[in-house]
Amino acid sequence: MHVRKSRWGQMASLVALMACTPVSAAQAQQAGHVPAVAAQLAQADAIAGDDPLLHIMRNYHCYYVDPAPAPFRPEVMDETGFLFGTPILDNVTYLGYLNLAVFAIETSDGLVLIDGGGTPAQGERILAWLDQTGRPRSDVKWIILTHEHGDHVGGAEVLHAGTGARIAAGPGALHSEAGSIPASLQPVDLLVERRMDLQVGDSTFVLLPTPGHTPGTLSVFSPVTVDGAQHMASFWGGKGMRPNVPNLRTMLQSVDLFAQVSQELRVDVPLNTHSWGDGTISRLINKVLAPELPNPFVLSYGQNAANLALLRVCTSAYLDQVEARQQAR
Ligand SMILES: [Zn+2]
Repeated sequence: MHVRKSRWGQMASLVALMACTPVSAAQAQQAGHVPAVAAQLAQADAIAGDDPLLHIMRNYHCYYVDPAPAPFRPEVMDETGFLFGTPILDNVTYLGYLNLAVFAIETSDGLVLIDGGGTPAQGERILAWLDQTGRPRSDVKWIILTHEHGDHVGGAEVLHAGTGARIAAGPGALHSEAGSIPASLQPVDLLVERRMDLQVGDSTFVLLPTPGHTPGTLSVFSPVTVDGAQHMASFWGGKGMRPNVPNLRTMLQSVDLFAQVSQELRVDVPLNTHSWGDGTISRLINKVLAPELPNPFVLSYGQNAANLALLRVCTSAYLDQVEARQQAR
């Protein structure tokens, strides 16, 4: 018999599971790496220092070169939904599961969604969330697709049909070896060929092509508010790394561009649509259970600079690891 746990039952189980999960970066195996990779992993450990959140970021960004201990890691398409609909900032709501999220950002002229969900069911669930919160579905004005993989566009047709929202995507996302956004959404309303601003009400979003994860990968910067104060959020467009040297070189260039724009715009709320590894889930739980504490999604500028440095050194280390393995063949 299938027993459906309550939202709080699911949360309690997960907290218990996380409490017994060993995640120390210091325990990560560094033996067996070529010197250039080992040196960069040591550099990553030094950047993380004794900051617990930066250790999570170190393990997240370095996952491909040095998989962190992860006795429990949800599948990308896991649909455990007890956190679905949790507000994380004044104007941002988490419409996601354990490992895949859509973020809804409120502007003075309606909602902007970052990504379209992994499946038609996730699209339907977002439509249901709109209904439950008493919003007209037409409140969704834009769906910004971070890239063409199915787990980011699988709900976009349902959402587009249900809301009439416009679609923004990078040109590489229309058709690439990585996939394509659904034909029914093409031509898209906004093709982002280079860095550009997208004005929605009084919010200026910055859209930045950052190919590497896929040809069509797009990163997004969004003004957000936390306890009434202005902050800037970023969404790094693509997470996974494949052992492909040209793609990794392209990704490394994109990382540098993303870091440059993040610093220019003074980003202090870095968010990711693959939400498991970067501590989003534990931070969501902290946000729910201890709303009186400082918002766990807001970093200091120094922390985000370290987070970006970790993304850079981990991507570079993986490129070196892939090149070394190819040369050894
Ligand atoms: Zn992807």
